Amino acid sequence: MELPQNIKKLDEAVINRIAAGEIIQRPSNALKELIENSLDAKSTNIQISVKNGGLKLLQIQDNGTGIRKDNFDIVCERFTTSKLEKFEDLSSIATYGFRGEALASISHIAHLTITSKTSDEICAYVGSYIDGKLQGPPKPIAGNQGTIITVEDLFYNMFVRKKALRSPAEEYQKISEVVSKYAIHNANVSFSLKKSGENNDIRTPLNSNHVENIRIIYGNLIARELIQFSCENDALGFKANGFVTNVNYSSKKMMFLLFINHRLVDCQNLKKCIDLVYATYLPKNSHPFVYMSLEMNPSYVDVNVHPTKHEVHFLNEEQVVEAVVTALETKLLGSNNSRVFYTQA
Ligand code: ADP
Ligand code: MG
Repeated sequence: MELPQNIKKLDEAVINRIAAGEIIQRPSNALKELIENSLDAKSTNIQISVKNGGLKLLQIQDNGTGIRKDNFDIVCERFTTSKLEKFEDLSSIATYGFRGEALASISHIAHLTITSKTSDEICAYVGSYIDGKLQGPPKPIAGNQGTIITVEDLFYNMFVRKKALRSPAEEYQKISEVVSKYAIHNANVSFSLKKSGENNDIRTPLNSNHVENIRIIYGNLIARELIQFSCENDALGFKANGFVTNVNYSSKKMMFLLFINHRLVDCQNLKKCIDLVYATYLPKNSHPFVYMSLEMNPSYVDVNVHPTKHEVHFLNEEQVVEAVVTALETKLLGSNNSRVFYTQA
């Protein structure tokens, strides 16, 4: 009979790489984490530059608070964060980050460099990281206040993942979607995205507004048909705000930008129900554009579902979806009536 194989503990580096690959599945996941870090650091200007769909280079520069020089040595270790101390804090968390996993993860599957300057330092410092560890003391360098995170050769040590990814063009498309959505939601912050060495593909101004940014990014055909949507329900403890297209507009594909407590998330259930509301009004097989921001008591939202934090579940999900859908239906009906009235006049 064949004897069993000996059981051995995996190498620490292998464990970390596997875990990192689960959190960062493609360049756009890494970028989402980096954008959220920049927003957490109160940046008003976020500039992103990309080479080869983010696989060769993914760089994000912000003008936020920066990272202290004496934090450079631990910033890329796993579970180091300036945002969470106790488990109980999870229920009232107001920042995007809280796990202290993003930078650590990236450093296990890419070459990561941090350049940062805080307001009380006279120059910036730069440090590079491999597998969570700072390679040599941070070096002084000229630089503006804020942080530049440079991610090079993503998945260089994960051959299979790299091969499984789509073309650089498709990865760039996903990156562009993430930037677009955050730019629309955070209209007070100026965003830009470009392929390195080329002109900006996306550029939103400082202190803009949602509709203006939708116009800049998705075009006037959508922007001119937007109606403002809001609804509130104290009993269920939530508030919804957003802009949705009226029944004059339709598209082959539904565009759904959903933020729950300012995190970009997916909620298939809500998406389907909203699409269904429009089905009554739009031609067959056509769909709306919907940007919606839901806010609820942080303790109602389970943000701890998965490290990628895409999937968010919340208390009374069915009832909340129902309430949003009902309010939307009323709103659309109203705008539809006024359109009929308008055409007749
Ligand atoms: P988390 O965001 O969950 O705390 P990260 O690994 O994403 O974990 O970041 C670790 C820490 O590094 C953050 O808590 C923050 O203190 C610091 N940091 C990361 N990115 C930035 C940035 N762009 N500006 C300022 N500080 C940053
Ligand atoms: Mg983070």
